Amino acid sequence: MVPFDPQISSDRVDITDDLGARIATFTGTLSGGQGTVTWPKGTTVDVTRKYSAQVYAVKDGIQLLTFPVSLSFTGCGDIRDQIIKEYNDNKIVDRVTGQLYVPACTDFTQDKHSTNFQFAELNTSTYNTNPNSWAILRDILFTGLEAIRHLNGDQTLGISSGYRNPVLNINTPNSDKLKSRHMFGDAVDIRTGSDPIAWQTLHDFAVGADINGCVEPHAISTYDHLHVEWPGQASLTDARHCQVGWAQ
Ligand SMILES: [Zn+2]
Repeated sequence: MVPFDPQISSDRVDITDDLGARIATFTGTLSGGQGTVTWPKGTTVDVTRKYSAQVYAVKDGIQLLTFPVSLSFTGCGDIRDQIIKEYNDNKIVDRVTGQLYVPACTDFTQDKHSTNFQFAELNTSTYNTNPNSWAILRDILFTGLEAIRHLNGDQTLGISSGYRNPVLNINTPNSDKLKSRHMFGDAVDIRTGSDPIAWQTLHDFAVGADINGCVEPHAISTYDHLHVEWPGQASLTDARHCQVGWAQ
């Protein structure tokens, strides 16, 4: 590897493969010393292939320097790599941060559950086939669900949708294609059996001070289910980030 000047500044860094095809690009500068290239999470383009590559620092359209590297995108080593690629490919946006969202390997779980809600019923993705079942399910989802269930007299609650991988979400009718919190593990659809009273009862619990959730208004939903979410919240007492017009 050719050493490069750590003072160098660039607008863009491209990584190309042996044949000159660009396999990754990102805005920013090369950093680190000899033998080190850092770039933002989410630029992984092929998680299993090894590249013998050229790295180019580019400023004002001019290549400032180039050096060969051997890049190995090992990823998570399982089905999570495929799911993460869906986030990359579809440019999923976290409306709380305003940033593109690309999950890390450690954002996924294979077994998170609570007393009354099981992993399998909350993982409604297309990757829910054992033994390779992975999902993003945040703690707040279980905390919130248990709290709603308790306020509702500890009756069993049915789940029609929990975690969705991006491709599934995009293909789900009436979903928020690129921002739905079902892709973030902090949203759930609770079955309400097309019963307006059941819907309203659970709605009132979910938006109350004890639960602090955001609920999709009936005007854009149905009495078939109640969509509740806690976007980016770590606890039920955290500030809410509800969408405009959503009950809160
Ligand atoms: Zn929903």
